Amino acid sequence: MGKKDKKQFAIIGLGRFGSSVALSLSKAGYDVLAIDSDEERVQKFSDEVTHVVRADTTDEASLKALGIRNFDTVVVAIGEDIQANVLTTLLLKEIGVPHIVAKARNELHGKMLEKIGADRVIYPERDMGMRVAHSLVSANVLDYIELSPNLSLVEVAAPQALLGRSLAEANLRARYGVNVVAIKRGEQIIVPPLPSEKINDKDIMIVVGTNDGVQKLEELE
Ligand code: ADP
Repeated sequence: MGKKDKKQFAIIGLGRFGSSVALSLSKAGYDVLAIDSDEERVQKFSDEVTHVVRADTTDEASLKALGIRNFDTVVVAIGEDIQANVLTTLLLKEIGVPHIVAKARNELHGKMLEKIGADRVIYPERDMGMRVAHSLVSANVLDYIELSPNLSLVEVAAPQALLGRSLAEANLRARYGVNVVAIKRGEQIIVPPLPSEKINDKDIMIVVGTNDGVQKLEELE
């Protein structure tokens, strides 16, 4: 049983990406409706998430019959078939789904989804590639999220060069234009950290800054 007072999610398209989203939500205790037009995929997931149905979501009547309007968030994870992805998003918008998240294959596809009214457009391959690249360049980088084309949020292991210094002494804002928004220390999360907070070995700093500044911090040993 899912958590009844929690959000209801529907995931359309059970490829690698969609199935991962559906399984993660299901494991977190949410009710998930998973939809795919392929009978084999539907069979495969029938034991794993709350509800799995076979439907072609480019068909308006089928979508309505699923009661898709009652879901808080619908994720369009159809990958290869751009036309089916766009058409499904358009229909969901027309039906009045409150929050639509759609996966784009490329920038042009993403623009189209935004124009149609997708509330959030995601580029899983591009974003994952970027995150992996940052973690390859610097062993200190644990995660990387692009907030805008020139601003990013990075989770970075405290570099040796900063250990024992307070945030005021490290002076990262003036040196690199980055702000330390939180420090993870074991189980503890210090947010917001005071200027007097000393950087310890094994601390994980969560910083926001320009791509240039963040890159300089990543390059610190
Ligand atoms: P990924 O790149 O994440 O693996 P795929 O393109 O391989 O994505 O998978 C997308 C899934 O979407 C497939 O399982 C496919 O059967 C499903 N799909 C494609 N078109 C439709 C549609 N019109 N209605 C519902 N599901 C669809």
